[in-house]
Amino acid sequence: MPEKKSIAIQKIVDDDVKSAIFASLDLINAKKIMKENMTIILKPNILGAKPPERAVTTHPEVLRGVIHWLKQFNPKEIIVAESSGGQKPGTTENAMKKCLISQTCEDEDVKCIPFEKTERIIYQVENPLVMTEFSSSHLLKDADLIINLPKIKTHGQCTLTCCIKNMFGTVLLGNKPKTHARFPTVGKFMAALTDIYSVSQPQLTIIDGYLCQEGNGPAGGDVVKLDLIIAGYDPVALERVVCEIIDFNYQDIKYIGYAEEKNLGSTKLENIELLGETIEDVKRPFKPPKSRPVSVPLPQWLADYAGKAIFRAEVDFDPEKCRLCSTCWSNCPTQAITPPDKMEKGNIPSWDNEKCITCYCCAELCPYEAVDFKINYVKNVLFSWCGVFLIALLLFIILLIAL
Ligand code: SF4
Ligand code: SF4
Repeated sequence: MPEKKSIAIQKIVDDDVKSAIFASLDLINAKKIMKENMTIILKPNILGAKPPERAVTTHPEVLRGVIHWLKQFNPKEIIVAESSGGQKPGTTENAMKKCLISQTCEDEDVKCIPFEKTERIIYQVENPLVMTEFSSSHLLKDADLIINLPKIKTHGQCTLTCCIKNMFGTVLLGNKPKTHARFPTVGKFMAALTDIYSVSQPQLTIIDGYLCQEGNGPAGGDVVKLDLIIAGYDPVALERVVCEIIDFNYQDIKYIGYAEEKNLGSTKLENIELLGETIEDVKRPFKPPKSRPVSVPLPQWLADYAGKAIFRAEVDFDPEKCRLCSTCWSNCPTQAITPPDKMEKGNIPSWDNEKCITCYCCAELCPYEAVDFKINYVKNVLFSWCGVFLIALLLFIILLIAL
């Protein structure tokens, strides 16, 4: 019988985030991994420049609670590090400021560093699924302890972003769109996410389930005040528990299966020792993103084809909200977006269906939430080989009947 993985689920009562963090870390006996004089990296989710109440980024009070807990062990240094979405220099600093992470670091006298501002090294991926190496900060190698501080949000492309997806932030600025372009299908991209996670493998994960996003996440979704802190060591088990709480099928989220395949953890509930609240007590089904993939027993090439042909979403720009800020077209990994001829209010960018790999970066990064996606299943089926086959079959049947 394998050793049970401890996971603590703690309710946040009356917005007392710090008490919930202390209680959850006590429940999993997190002090067993602490030593004096450690260099500790905290990796929050700082996707973009949004205020904390929008629930796009790890909440500053979650960060503050974790820093207070860590200070009991006299660390040498605590460094909060991230590389945000977007390619422009200064993007991460701007996001850190807007979501109040840099202010929290200043208050608590800890460093706040964009990964891209540190020395880069090439990391080799052990037993790669698709990605053999990538460049990131030396901090991942030099830290004594890495703590992952993901947030629970739905995600247009991946369905859910939590523990494993959060470490995509160790890929530096402009290399993120390149990674999307290199691994354009959902399956390949999720495998790349797993490879990226496997390089840093945080020893501890404290999930921000305070303010979350459902529906059109991870940037334009509806805020859910879930009021939870979930802590543990096994990212795969944690992802499974989160899926149970928000009522998602963990098998639809491919990176969870890939991570289990890669021995990064286990999804088996019988191997998990749940401490604190029960799943039933805190269950709160989340609205899924529009293009939620479903797991069907198909070969990968067929699943990729069906995903691309039938479940393909079209990008939709809102002329009322769009301010022609250029973020979407300058960050699209495949140059599928071009600015309008006239940069006038009411005009919107153009979108190239052929070039788009449906990575959802434009929706994630639009500062004004002006990008949405819509799926026209009938059109997708009719304009795919599947549609051609169905029409041919229908004609054949009609011909047989007529004869
Ligand atoms: S859709 Fe959003 S990101 Fe693109 S130009 Fe308009 S406001 Fe900027
Ligand atoms: S148009 Fe949007 S979804 Fe399509 S590839 Fe570009 S950034 Fe990704």
